[in-house]
Amino acid sequence: MKKRVAILGGGESGVGAAILAQKKGYEVFLSDLGEIKQKYKNVLSNYKIDFEEEKHSESRILKTGLVVKSPGIPETAPLVVKLKEAGIPVVSEIEFAGKYCSAKTICITGSNGKTTTTLLLYHILKNEGINVGLAGNVGKSFAWQVAEENFDLYVIELSSFQLDGMFSFRADVSVLLNITPDHLDRYNYNMQNYIDSKFRVIQNQTKEDYFIYCNDDEIIQNEIKKRKIEPVLVPFGLNEPAATGAGIKENRIIININQKQFSMSILDLSLHGKHNTYNSMAAGIASMVFEIRDTQLRESLSSFTGVEHRLERFLKVHGIEFINDSKATNVNSTWYALESVLKPIVWIVGGIDKGNDYAMLKDLARKKVKAIVCLGKSNAKIHDAFEGVVKNIVDAASMEEAVKAAYYLARNGDTVLLSPACASFDLFENYEDRGIQFKKEVRNL
Ligand code: ADP
Repeated sequence: MKKRVAILGGGESGVGAAILAQKKGYEVFLSDLGEIKQKYKNVLSNYKIDFEEEKHSESRILKTGLVVKSPGIPETAPLVVKLKEAGIPVVSEIEFAGKYCSAKTICITGSNGKTTTTLLLYHILKNEGINVGLAGNVGKSFAWQVAEENFDLYVIELSSFQLDGMFSFRADVSVLLNITPDHLDRYNYNMQNYIDSKFRVIQNQTKEDYFIYCNDDEIIQNEIKKRKIEPVLVPFGLNEPAATGAGIKENRIIININQKQFSMSILDLSLHGKHNTYNSMAAGIASMVFEIRDTQLRESLSSFTGVEHRLERFLKVHGIEFINDSKATNVNSTWYALESVLKPIVWIVGGIDKGNDYAMLKDLARKKVKAIVCLGKSNAKIHDAFEGVVKNIVDAASMEEAVKAAYYLARNGDTVLLSPACASFDLFENYEDRGIQFKKEVRNL
């Protein structure tokens, strides 16, 4: 009899897992409590994979020997709880696909900067001519590619939700960019649970593997002290580099690894701001593990054009620069955005507040922000936090109003920065929609 697997969630990762499972000889059943997008339904039908939507047929799912769960479904969902009680393993798509993947893997996680670093590293490896795949939260799912492609190496962006369903997966190179409070609602409001989740990126790693991490991050530093870690430790930070690690000296990035040294002026990096210096170091170290040539690495670090909605400098209107940082959905990423802008800022901020504490932004706001435009259904907390810190605070009820107000408040030489520090669902579909509307309104000025 065929082995049975149930896949929960009919999005990119679930459909990818279903295709791979079918290819590996499983009897597959995919189930989604919501609606499945038409394009995925077409794929499932083409592959003759059995599926259901807007319900979970519990008894059928409970008869399988393995469940692959999409990262969006919380561990506390009633069906997941029942599966665990029944002793049925519930794993993530990356864990499942890892069993069938013989390529090397670089796994990137952190609270902020994952997508940027993943795409930057992919850009570097691809420019070197490596047969590399891009997977995880960006692009096509890992499982789908393991089923249909034949890459030698994968760069995989991992969220903590993916990591939570990973048990025996082993990364050849793991990267941990930073840890700041986020998604705590999924971790019982317990920071240690969230830290443990992020540290799963190193589980099963051996002495032959590498762990690249930010040594300026106190939470990571403390956690490392508590653990016995197997892989080669490669710290990066803004101080002088360790014998194995990356750092800064006289405005140059220096990377030391495997008896080799790479160096390059910070001014030549295409991505600006402290946070991006971290991201560039992390990507640089990982590429050196795979012996990318110096000249190629330098070229790639200076030619990467960045990622949409992440500190995206896209237009100047009458000497006013507009930056779209719509992806900044927490206070920490907005801190880096404010830090990286050198001109006076008109700052568009607000949306759905996930329990934000704005205290850490006050100093930067005092020094750099000349006016705030609040863009959310409820802006009281932003007013409370910044009244007396920033002179001019106005409210806007739509992106059109926000952009017009910001343009009115800005002068030649200023920067208008959309960096909301909040989720977008009150006025927009998602952060992409918010960023696209921002750019549209700016172009309409
Ligand atoms: P993620 O995939 O982890 O959400 P992104 O690369 O999409 O990260 O960036 C999300 C936000 O965080 C953007 O506003 C970006 O400017 C900011 N950011 C990028 N890298 C870092 C970093 N290393 N530390 C803090 N913030 C960062």
